Amino acid sequence: MLPRAERALSDWLASGARGIGQLLIVKTGGFSLRHREDEARADLQVFRSPNDATELARLDDAENYRPLKTAPNLRHGWVLELADLPALRLALDLFYPGRLPALAAWEANQLATTPLRATLDRQTGMYRSAAKISDGEIDELVGRFCRSRGGEPGCLRTILWARDMTGARPSLRLPLDKFIAPVDQTERGEHVMPLLCQEACNLLVAEARKVVKDSSNRAERTGFEGSC
Ligand code: SF4
Repeated sequence: MLPRAERALSDWLASGARGIGQLLIVKTGGFSLRHREDEARADLQVFRSPNDATELARLDDAENYRPLKTAPNLRHGWVLELADLPALRLALDLFYPGRLPALAAWEANQLATTPLRATLDRQTGMYRSAAKISDGEIDELVGRFCRSRGGEPGCLRTILWARDMTGARPSLRLPLDKFIAPVDQTERGEHVMPLLCQEACNLLVAEARKVVKDSSNRAERTGFEGSC
């Protein structure tokens, strides 16, 4: 029997899914992977090991490091030829770590989600202060940092977590489809596997801390100027 993530992948491909995130999956003798925007290109550099995905996912087109693998800045110009389904699964896990198991768990109604405030409340050390972020600041931050399109950094995941225990959406600045799977977050409107976000990532937590710090610096400056 296939492992659960591999079975989910196989089912999605059988349903006609064209890929995941920015990746196009083509059935050949095995499978090939490339950037979805490279579908018509014939000048792609060929790679053949699923482990090549690590290097292909590391830098963007301008050779900048990609700290967030689900950001919409996957590099172009390559094709990865893979022998079979296990090799495809391994490569996808390197391009988008943990996303296939999350998808398989979600389909089985077993994907636990964590509200943002719960994630922030359990931070320790230098990140503890992130929990002081206001609801208004969360709205702005998530709307800017997690958006699928319209600027850096951005992220192609579908958000499944709420702001807090009330179940409120974390940002009203994002379109409703940012919270609905399996909408294609690249705006190409194709049938693709969704990249799910069940809990705020470390990068968002670090940004929340920065927002709190900046706002407390601003308040201190204002207080200082007011007392002069
Ligand atoms: S919190 Fe989720 S949606 Fe937002 S940037 Fe991080 S991984 Fe992407």
